[in-house]
Amino acid sequence: MAQLIDGKRISQEIKDELKVKVAELKAQGKTGALAVIQVGEDPASSVYVRNKKNACAYIGIESLSYELPKETTQQELLDLIEKLNADSHVRGILVQLPVPAHIDENAIIRAIRPDKDVDGFHPQSVGAMTIGQKGFLPCTPAGIIQLLKRSGIEIAGKHCVVIGRSNIVGKPMALLLLHENGTVTIAHSKTRNLKELCKEADILVVAMGKPRFIGADYVKEGAVVIDVGIHRNENNKLCGDVKFEEVEPLASAITPVPGGVGPMTIAMLMNNCVESIAENEG
Ligand code: NAD
Repeated sequence: MAQLIDGKRISQEIKDELKVKVAELKAQGKTGALAVIQVGEDPASSVYVRNKKNACAYIGIESLSYELPKETTQQELLDLIEKLNADSHVRGILVQLPVPAHIDENAIIRAIRPDKDVDGFHPQSVGAMTIGQKGFLPCTPAGIIQLLKRSGIEIAGKHCVVIGRSNIVGKPMALLLLHENGTVTIAHSKTRNLKELCKEADILVVAMGKPRFIGADYVKEGAVVIDVGIHRNENNKLCGDVKFEEVEPLASAITPVPGGVGPMTIAMLMNNCVESIAENEG
C-alpha cells in the first residue's frame, strides 16, 4: 500500500503556519492586501477566485476583488494593474487566467510589478527562479516540492521524470526539482518512449492534462507518483491524469485527486502573499 500524500492536511498545516506569521507581522505594523482580478464570468475561474479570497480571510490578510465584464479592454485592465502597482497597501496582484481572447495574456503578466507578482509568472520571476535567485515561485510546482518535503520524501539524487512542459507547471517543476538536486527528465507530447522513460522514474510528476492516461504500465515499483491533472469525468467526479486505483498498489507514495496537489496551489499563493507583506518596506 502506498503512502497517501495528503495535500489537504499539508496545505492546512501551511495555512495555519501562515496565520501565525500574519498575526506577528500585524503586530509589527506590517499589513497588505491581495488584489484579485477576474475578467468575465468563467464558472471554473469564479470557483478558484472564491477559494483564493476564502484562503486570504482564513490566514487574516485582506483581499480586494475586481470583477470586470468580459468586454473590458486590454488598456482598461492595464490601467487597473498600473493603479494597483502604485498602491503600497496592495502587496500582491493576481489576474485570474485565462483572460478573454482579445486580451494579450503575456502583456498582462508583464505589467504586474515583479515584487507583487505572487503567481510567479512574470518573466523576471521566471528568470530569477531559473538561476536560483530570490523571487516568487509559481504556486503549483512550489506546492509539489512542499508535498514531497513534508512527506519525508528525499529528492536529491533521485531520477525525477516530469510529464508536461507548460510554463505554469511542467517547466518550473523540472527546475525546482533540479534545484533540490534531483536528476530531471522532461517528457512532452513529442517524446517518443514515454512508457520506458516513466518506468525509470523514482519520482514521476504527471502534468499532461489527459484524464487517467498513466496506468500501472508506466510506473516502476516503489516510485513516488504526483498527479497534477484535474478533470471532471462523465459522472461529474474529479479525476487526475493517473489511474489511481491501478497505480497506487505499485507506488511507494501517491497523491490523490482531489486532495493532493490541488489544495497546495492556494496554500503557496498565500505563502507568496505573506512573503510580500513581510518584505514591504512601505
Ligand atoms: P498544458 O495543456 O498547458 O500542458 C500539458 C503538457 O503535457 C504539454 O506540455 C504537453 O507537451 C504534455 N503532453 C500532452 N500530451 C502528452 C502525451 N501524450 N505524452 C507526453 N506529454 C504530453 O497543461 P498544464 O497547464 O500544464 O496543466 C496540466 C494539468 O494540470 C491539467 O489537467 C490542469 O488542469 C492541471 N493543473 C492543476 C493545477 C493544480 O493546482 N492542481 C494547477 C495547474 C494545472
